[in-house]
Amino acid sequence: MKTLKGISGSKGYASGTAVVKRDAPAVPQRYEVTDHAAEEERFRKARGVCEARFSELEERAARDIGPDEAEIFGAYRMILDDDAFFQKALSRSQSESVNIEYAIYEECRGVAAMFEGMDDPYLKERGADIENVCGEVIGCLSGAGGDFTIEANSVSDVIIVARDLTPAETVKMDKSRIRGLVTERGGTTSHTVILAKALGIPAIIGVEGLLGEVSGRERIIVDAYGGTVQIDPDEATFREFVEKSEREKKLNREYSLSAGKPAQTIDGFHIDVLVNTGDADSIKSFDAEKCDGIGLLRTEFVYMGRPDYPDEDAQYEVYGDIARRASGKEVIIRTLDIGGDKQLAYMDIPKEDNPFLGYRAIRLCLDRPEVFHTQLRAILRASAHGGVKVMFPMIVTAEELRQAKECVERAKESLRGDGLAFNENIAVGIMVETPAAALLSDQLAEEADFFSIGSNDLIQYVTVSDRMNERVQYLYDSCNLSVLRAIRMVAASATKRGIPWGICGEVASDELLLPVWVALGVTELSVAPSQAGKIKHLIGRIDKAKITAAVERLFDMRSIQDVKDSLGSLQGELSKG
Ligand code: PEP
Ligand code: MG
Repeated sequence: MKTLKGISGSKGYASGTAVVKRDAPAVPQRYEVTDHAAEEERFRKARGVCEARFSELEERAARDIGPDEAEIFGAYRMILDDDAFFQKALSRSQSESVNIEYAIYEECRGVAAMFEGMDDPYLKERGADIENVCGEVIGCLSGAGGDFTIEANSVSDVIIVARDLTPAETVKMDKSRIRGLVTERGGTTSHTVILAKALGIPAIIGVEGLLGEVSGRERIIVDAYGGTVQIDPDEATFREFVEKSEREKKLNREYSLSAGKPAQTIDGFHIDVLVNTGDADSIKSFDAEKCDGIGLLRTEFVYMGRPDYPDEDAQYEVYGDIARRASGKEVIIRTLDIGGDKQLAYMDIPKEDNPFLGYRAIRLCLDRPEVFHTQLRAILRASAHGGVKVMFPMIVTAEELRQAKECVERAKESLRGDGLAFNENIAVGIMVETPAAALLSDQLAEEADFFSIGSNDLIQYVTVSDRMNERVQYLYDSCNLSVLRAIRMVAASATKRGIPWGICGEVASDELLLPVWVALGVTELSVAPSQAGKIKHLIGRIDKAKITAAVERLFDMRSIQDVKDSLGSLQGELSKG
């Protein structure tokens, strides 16, 4: 048994079989090859290895999961058998004197683009299958492990072990089998953690030396309360884990009873608890009965995994559907927040030295009015079905907000012209996630209908520490007083102007900080769906009048640790009741 330590990202207990993601370069290295026979031989060997691997995965999936899930590996073997396709790659390798993995990559790109362009979703999927198979062969040829999502989809209880996960990878994984995520890299608000919270599964990040210790297939225990990962645990450790996780399940069942009820403090302050969504799975599983609506609909996923921008109807289908299913409850749709760590090939964004400080989110939308216009029309059309609000990310100046609001007016005008229905009085708000917006919050409050604090970004920009970098997590801390003071400033501006203000970053579901949000007068908290019941339950144990003085004292403390200790004591008192 081996124990490793990391940072707790998404709390919980889990156990399962390790599936390791070994990084292969996105584009295989290109080099000159003169011995074509040797290259052909290398390819034959790699094909044989993949063939054996697919057969093994097919057998395992049939045994552990079911025949339907096993079928895909049969299809992969058929693609692998496609001599015509691989012959083209071999000919390209010979005629261009390039290594075979590069030739396969080039051939695959052409074929995948052709499938992607098809209207039939079934055929589109086949394009993705071809890419998966080629990725596997290329991975094998270049000494990497191939596409780990293929393997992950063949095991029933998976613990994903990786250096880091990209948004595109998380989209590809079959989440129903994943029990936990453990990564070497990443911060507490990286995509891995956001995904884990959305799925309600534990995640530990920043585990040094992880990939050196796990080779795959080991039994792993994840204790994401304490931040420990146990590899090949002994029987006593495993028994202890089972007991702890049973207790946790019981508590979660209790919390889930609160999800559908209104949340109110002991002294009668009501707080809406909404959920964050941002991928097809969480949209599908959204249940309006178990929350007060959607506080953040990240729309980037609508733009991902496709060859070109989604058109208005494709977007309207998603937004309209969710608005209808929310049955009149609030649905805050955030306009496209692409750039930074979220990139899309077809958007053709030039490479930047500092993408997080660069051309992203509202900046990009204002610069590409046709893209923005299409999205705004789709959001407005969805507003005809219920409580849709629109929200702009990364606002830095009041001018940006004004410009964006003008775009909303133009979109309304064009819908009127087309005779299409929408809510004329749709609320237009902003994410407060830049220090600039916090500092200008008194003025912005006069022009926005609501504020939603994007603490994930706000923390990184206030503390100048990358939210994805495990090395600076000691600074990237929500208990950093600079962050708490910034939030207090935003709260005061919103309260003075009488507009609703909420938090949609990960700190919204931080138990330790919950009394702070309550004392500052938060009107809504938007959290991962798995957290809504718990947060509502905990709000019900807070007496706002009683905690306010203790919270006030926090703002004058002199270290992060002092803040944490005080919050810890406060939490202790609250749990005593
Ligand atoms: C945030 O920054 O807090 C936020 C909710 O947005 P995202 O995590 O998508 O940047
Ligand atoms: Mg953000």
